[in-house]
Amino acid sequence: MNYIIQCSRILFLVAVFLLGAVSPAAWANKNDFAEWHLDVVFYNGSKDKTDEQIADAVRSWVDKAEIVYQRRPALKISYRIEKLAEKGGKDLSNLSFDSMSQYAKFMDDHFDNVATSKTEGHFTVVITDKLCTNEGKEKCWGGYAHFPHSVNPFSLKRGIALKSNVDTYTFTHELGHVFGLKHTFEPYVGFKLQCNKPFKPKGRPEGECNSCPGGMIVYDVNALPSSCNGRTNLMDYCTSLIGDEYLTPCQEERAANQRQSYMTSDGKTNYFKLKGLAGEAICKEDNDCETDEYCDKGTLTVGHNLCKSLKSIGEACTRSDQCVSGRCNTGQCKTADECQTDQDCGSNSVCKKGPIGLGQNKCVDLVSPTCPSGWTYEIRNPLNKDRCTREVTKSAALECKLLITDKAENWSGPHAKTGEDECKSSKGKDPKGVKCPGSFRHNVLPGADSCTKTETEHTDTQCIAGWDYKSQSGRDVCQQK
Ligand SMILES: [Zn+2]
Repeated sequence: MNYIIQCSRILFLVAVFLLGAVSPAAWANKNDFAEWHLDVVFYNGSKDKTDEQIADAVRSWVDKAEIVYQRRPALKISYRIEKLAEKGGKDLSNLSFDSMSQYAKFMDDHFDNVATSKTEGHFTVVITDKLCTNEGKEKCWGGYAHFPHSVNPFSLKRGIALKSNVDTYTFTHELGHVFGLKHTFEPYVGFKLQCNKPFKPKGRPEGECNSCPGGMIVYDVNALPSSCNGRTNLMDYCTSLIGDEYLTPCQEERAANQRQSYMTSDGKTNYFKLKGLAGEAICKEDNDCETDEYCDKGTLTVGHNLCKSLKSIGEACTRSDQCVSGRCNTGQCKTADECQTDQDCGSNSVCKKGPIGLGQNKCVDLVSPTCPSGWTYEIRNPLNKDRCTREVTKSAALECKLLITDKAENWSGPHAKTGEDECKSSKGKDPKGVKCPGSFRHNVLPGADSCTKTETEHTDTQCIAGWDYKSQSGRDVCQQK
């Protein structure tokens, strides 16, 4: 048995391998495409700048980016600007946060890149007048962007935040990060396209302005490198005072490769990848995902956290929230619970919990137990079952009232007479009276005495065949099985 399973798995792997090896040839090659088109929405939260100033600035940012990222597939941007004063209770003209993680959460919640389908969506940029965090000491930025998967595998993807007064290069610099470029003072990990080697990356501030030609570095009041009287690298923290910033061929190639990786095999822009739906952690908990999805937790070594579609009944599961039905039992999505509490079931119905907390909770109908006709229903609380009661009259034969010394065979009767009946002697003795046995009452009637007593009888109340009897406080119930 084991052998067969192993064997079929090998066949499956072979099939997948062949598919992988053959199919791409039939598809278009990504290298066939000269352009990479990106839809961008700029959310304008600025109060310092007029709408016209923002429109002019955005046009210059976009123009610069298209010039810098000309290498195949060349960046082509379509954009629109939307005025937006406030989002998530925050004034968008002043994006100040207590921490970097607060900023990240705000951007994730409100300015994520949008993928309405794999090839439709937009890249998001929010324009503000102030972009700072204050963790004891205030730090401010001209812009902020995220890295792609290949540079920072576990980060979430989100839009760019940009200050309204930045120079024409800042948007291009932030896009550089999205296209996998690091700052010139930061080393790359890995072997391919180690673009920062010429700049001898040493971190900040020692490595800053290493792209500025010797003798042209301008130092600030703290005697640290700050700007350059000549050309500087776009990914350096070193403003070119002559307004001339560039990328090296290595950086251009790296960014072009990254654009290509944000491309579908038929040359369209893959917004899922820009949003981070492919290969990157995009959720921490189920709430981060859409309502018909759950957060599937990858481990550090295998996969990343991804939102996945909820599983159908019968599919394997490890917890209830993975199932469309909301119920995972013994490793499989099972039919949904009908109820969690009695209130879910309406009147005359109660919620019956599944066995050992795993079986299906069901609404079961309730009806009252009944008594046979002629019996009265008696409610008994709380430990005794309800019961049926009725009064019955019993009768017994009248007996002669004899002494122990009297011989029964010498007496006959009882004989009816007016008043109390009597027994007569065959030996000529005086008649004797009559009596009733035990607890029976003697009813004297002319010519027809009788012995009667009234007793209370009990019997069990009854449920419909196949229903369960349930004893409870108040009137007991029968519940549907
Ligand atoms: Zn940067």
